[in-house]
Amino acid sequence: MTRSDPIPTVRALLDQASAQLDPADAQLLLAHALGRDRAWLYAHDRDPVDPAARRRFADLVARRRAGEPVAYLRGRQGFWSLDLAVGPATLIPRPETERLVELALDRLPCDAPLALADLGTGSGAIALALAIERPRARVDAVDASDAALAVARANAAAAGLANVAFHHGHWFEPLARRRYHLVASNPPYVAEGDPHLGQGDLRHEPPIALASGPDGLDAIRSIVRAAPAHLHPGGWLLLEHGHDQGPAVRALLRDAGFDAVATARDLEGRDRVGMG
Ligand code: GLN
Repeated sequence: MTRSDPIPTVRALLDQASAQLDPADAQLLLAHALGRDRAWLYAHDRDPVDPAARRRFADLVARRRAGEPVAYLRGRQGFWSLDLAVGPATLIPRPETERLVELALDRLPCDAPLALADLGTGSGAIALALAIERPRARVDAVDASDAALAVARANAAAAGLANVAFHHGHWFEPLARRRYHLVASNPPYVAEGDPHLGQGDLRHEPPIALASGPDGLDAIRSIVRAAPAHLHPGGWLLLEHGHDQGPAVRALLRDAGFDAVATARDLEGRDRVGMG
């Protein structure tokens, strides 16, 4: 009989995996394989990891190395104060979009019964963040993908939010003649054929959530054109866009009759949100 190897500990597995991938990703994936959160790992780094959890972790590491986004492997992504379910039917919510939420909240009084809309809600990120921060508002969340809407609805239910209504369709189309105090959208804005679509995490995200026409502006054009008929006087349209689309988005907003047109930057100092 040979002496068996010692059972690998949390620390040993993390060290091993960190040689192959981003250490933060390794932590998230090991915590996921163990059914724990990341903080648990710090307090248990000498704990042995049982063979079944080791196999789950090895599989997650291999899939991550092959390019699958951590958010899809875990099925979760933090956004604002939410821990959202996400899957291949939805874009993975990003920090840039939290900036859009902040800009929206700057424009929304706290205690008013506001009407708000989120066009292309995906996982529900924007709609749910607004609904949490403005509990007296009613938020209409629209998406053209039934699969995405199912995810968004589940996220709203998990967050206990009853002030979000979901609609299937393109942009304003399912909202009939309703008007809003603020309409927000993080629409697809990458140009079709952009080489970035074939790289990194983007390869795994739904093309419908990313790309929009030859210059990436098809969705934004449709939204901007239809927006004036759906806004109350003094209402706001906030659109996330590509870092090089600021001037084009401002021109579209002006052409549609918006007067207080501006661009806000993201945390990296790049043009990111068009407002009018
Ligand atoms: N509104 C969602 C988000 O911000 C989805 C956006 C999209 O699919 N383009 O994450």
